Amino acid sequence: MSATTATATPAKPLPTLDPVSKGFWDLANRGRLSVQRCDDCGHRHYPGAPVCPRCLSRQQTWEPVSGRGTLLSWVRFHRAYWEGFAPDIPYVVILVGLEEGPMMISNLVGARAEDVPIGAPLEVVFERATDQINLPKFRPRRG
Ligand SMILES: [Zn+2]
Repeated sequence: MSATTATATPAKPLPTLDPVSKGFWDLANRGRLSVQRCDDCGHRHYPGAPVCPRCLSRQQTWEPVSGRGTLLSWVRFHRAYWEGFAPDIPYVVILVGLEEGPMMISNLVGARAEDVPIGAPLEVVFERATDQINLPKFRPRRG
């Protein structure tokens, strides 16, 4: 359970670090986006899993990726499923197709979703939530 802060708004739920996800968050803390890569068959996947979804190997490594991808889809949330998100309603959740293959669910920053066409190039940016959690979000890619 995470510590609460003395604010009027309840804290947003944060990712839980476990033996599988710890490698992802360790790299995120250093500003690197990563996906799990199977040491046996090379399959890249996200989110992390205890075994490779292709060959069931338990030998998995968190591998840094470029942080670049494309916007595949987005949806606007009009209801707060967690009280901590109530002040943000409505907010946008996006599906990003990473250059390396896996897809990731995140938030769009720096632009309104209706101004970013499906297929537009995106790049990761990190927003620090706590000492342990550096949240990856995506913005339209520049240049
Ligand atoms: Zn594998």
